[in-house]
Amino acid sequence: MTQATQSLTQPSSSATFTGLKCKECGAEYEAKAIHVCEFCFGPLEVMYDYSALAQTVTRERIQAGPNSIWRYRPFLPVVTDTPIDVGTGMTPLLKANRLARRLGLKRLYIKNDAVNMPTLSFKDRVVSVALTRARELGFTTVSCASTGNLANSTAAIAAHAGLDCCVFIPSDLEAGKVLGTLVYGPTVMAVHGNYDQVNRLCSEVANTHGWGFVNINLRPYYSEGSKTLGYEVAEQLGWQLPDHIVAPLASGSLFTKIYKGFQEFVKVGLVEEKAVRFSGAQAEGCSPIAQAFREERDFITPVKPSTIAKSIAIGNPADGIYAVDIARKTNGNIESVTDQEIVEGMKLLAETEGIFTETAGGTTIATLKKLVEAGKINSDETTVVYITGNGLKTQEAVQGYIGQPLTIEPKLDSFERALERSRTLDRLEWQEVLV
Ligand SMILES: *Cc1c(COP(=O)(O)O)cnc(C)c1O
Repeated sequence: MTQATQSLTQPSSSATFTGLKCKECGAEYEAKAIHVCEFCFGPLEVMYDYSALAQTVTRERIQAGPNSIWRYRPFLPVVTDTPIDVGTGMTPLLKANRLARRLGLKRLYIKNDAVNMPTLSFKDRVVSVALTRARELGFTTVSCASTGNLANSTAAIAAHAGLDCCVFIPSDLEAGKVLGTLVYGPTVMAVHGNYDQVNRLCSEVANTHGWGFVNINLRPYYSEGSKTLGYEVAEQLGWQLPDHIVAPLASGSLFTKIYKGFQEFVKVGLVEEKAVRFSGAQAEGCSPIAQAFREERDFITPVKPSTIAKSIAIGNPADGIYAVDIARKTNGNIESVTDQEIVEGMKLLAETEGIFTETAGGTTIATLKKLVEAGKINSDETTVVYITGNGLKTQEAVQGYIGQPLTIEPKLDSFERALERSRTLDRLEWQEVLV
């Protein structure tokens, strides 16, 4: 490494973070491209000087910042004042009245990362942070082990930043996820194996090639990007925390970082303290975190994924046990739903709120429904549901479960006949429901 890049590895005066710390044993490290503790193999997390942050950060300063995740730059682990800003973040927080009524809730909000920029999933948040930090640490090639969305984000944002990119995906991903990576021109390795095998391979490559893997050797920085899902919701609710949140779990990272984000805002005085309940969603075909929660275990038993919700199909989730801990101590829940329920969840959200989400979002909506029906979410709780990805990327999931267009001749009578037929069909369907 050259002298110039070396000096950048140390937080400078404009950095608000102070280094890395092991989540298990507390050992501290310099802010380099490392992610596990040398002593206990625990995961490393970024530390900040919160008393300094409390003195400088105000609601007004945040609101005067860019309309992206970078309005929260003091809470993110980068040194530069010119981060890679591709408009990521500040996605809509939609008041979901029709879905709320359908479920019997009073105040339901959808945090809609199905329209996040540039690649229509929450992963644009973590990648914007990881690649900004990768550049600071002197990496010129970036990479990732991905279930699909991460490959899309890494390829797109690397293209924008002019970084070389090589991504690894399981070979059985949805067509939209593969195409949505290839178009940016990275090298794509489609591995015969599931995500956990892809991830293991990438750990070896990271050790031998000196590349910046956003979710491996850059993981402490990458994962901090998910905190912005917490900050934005607090700001968009008028600088208040909700009563209950529901979010999908793959590695469990996003879930734990929403929690960290809320806590930090309390710590520096941006919002009032409040007991927020945290509930997590998994697909039954890959639900190691839900199983550990249900069985009140303090360890995760890895599983082999088999579900249509591929973007959240991680059989050996790195942050699973921390997610269980948060759900437990906040009086929340972690539930799983079947593939059938996931498709119904996708349709329910589309038909009630006009949001087409992918399978991960279907998982979250189906879990929300299940929790409400089981009395595990009260109707008067202000509830925020995190929709993390876009349905156009997983079209396979709903094929065969949605209607067909009515094909007609370009003539009025052809239209009238088709309309009459569709109304009769609607009536017949209703009769079927009624008998
Ligand atoms: C990656 C991903 C998640 C979950 O991410 P973790 O932080 O690993 O739990 C959720 N939804 C979508 C759409 C994703 O791509």
